[in-house]
Amino acid sequence: MNKINMVDLQGQYKKIKSEIDSAIHKVLDSAAFINGPAVKEFQAKLENYLGVKHVIPCANGTDALQISMMALGLKPGDEVITTSFTFIATAEVIALLGLTPVLVDIDPNTFNIDPDAIRKAITSKSKAIVPVHLFGQCADLEAIQEIADEFGLKVIEDACQAIGADYIFKDGNRKKAGTIGDVGCTSFFPSKNLGAYGDGGAIFTNNDALANQCRIIANHGMTARYYHDLIGVNSRLDSIQAAILNVKLKYLDAYSSARNKAAESYNEAFKDYSSIKIPAKFEQSTHVFHQYTLLTKNIDRDGLHEHLQSKGIPAPVYYPVPLHLQKAYQDSRYNEGDFPITEKVCKSVLSLPMHTELDEEQLGFITSTLLEFVNK
Ligand SMILES: *Cc1c(COP(=O)(O)O)cnc(C)c1O
Repeated sequence: MNKINMVDLQGQYKKIKSEIDSAIHKVLDSAAFINGPAVKEFQAKLENYLGVKHVIPCANGTDALQISMMALGLKPGDEVITTSFTFIATAEVIALLGLTPVLVDIDPNTFNIDPDAIRKAITSKSKAIVPVHLFGQCADLEAIQEIADEFGLKVIEDACQAIGADYIFKDGNRKKAGTIGDVGCTSFFPSKNLGAYGDGGAIFTNNDALANQCRIIANHGMTARYYHDLIGVNSRLDSIQAAILNVKLKYLDAYSSARNKAAESYNEAFKDYSSIKIPAKFEQSTHVFHQYTLLTKNIDRDGLHEHLQSKGIPAPVYYPVPLHLQKAYQDSRYNEGDFPITEKVCKSVLSLPMHTELDEEQLGFITSTLLEFVNK
């Protein structure tokens, strides 16, 4: 059996090596390393794939969030509501811009931000909501948009884990994750569902003026060469990464299917065990399984983690500490116990290997090893 990894970028690369290598060499031969034709080609292809008017490539997903918030004109003191159960980047940029992160609890089934909790957190200073489509499944965007419309708030979708997922509206209409709010953000970090071979990110929007602001801010606030109308940042997707992404975008839907197939085989193996709760499906979203995350019940989660680890199966905890209990984010507004669902989930979740190259032998070994512990 091949070694089991959390992600298998080498196995995936082997299958598309000749295409990738020739795309990289094309950039090397052209020496157009920054803003070359590959970047423009990728931008257009991704706009087409997502059905969105504007894609603004940038250096990483964290920058995508920061640039979006700058382009929306958020100012120090403005409150931005987000989930306490996410990767730190979401709250980090809010804090760095001097905005006030307002954290709220999650839905216990989907792990995504709870719209009722958003509503309760609104004050006269609220300016924006950042739903995170955690683990590859969309948050309840229709409910969130309704609140945003009622209170005049902006919606910034953190789609870093959900590129390719569809949001399914109540009327049956579908749109891609990240293209529904005022602005959407994604990451091309290598282990993300559409991963580059280095850092990368992008911003999505259907708003022409906002797209223009984002482009200017991502390029030093420059409106004409050496004329800087805004304070900006330096955040670019380099041409080699864009060339790689041009190849990989063609396979994104097949990659999502492969992830779903692995998830189904986990679901099938665990469905009859009350101590293992398989990932809940939100009926208004497809799932692209950035992570396959179980909720353990009445068993020792850390013991299970150790057991899997000892058999060569990586099984990390995403995420062990909620944002409001992170050292750097300690705040007199928040205490332990404030977000009971998030806190309980942090103590009970476990993620299993999830990538595009898992074979039946590996899946069988992972599920039987896990059940060994559960049946003990
Ligand atoms: C990965 C990730 C980010 C940050 O993306 P980078 O490209 O690593 O900067 C932000 N939010 C979420 C939810 C992520 O998973």
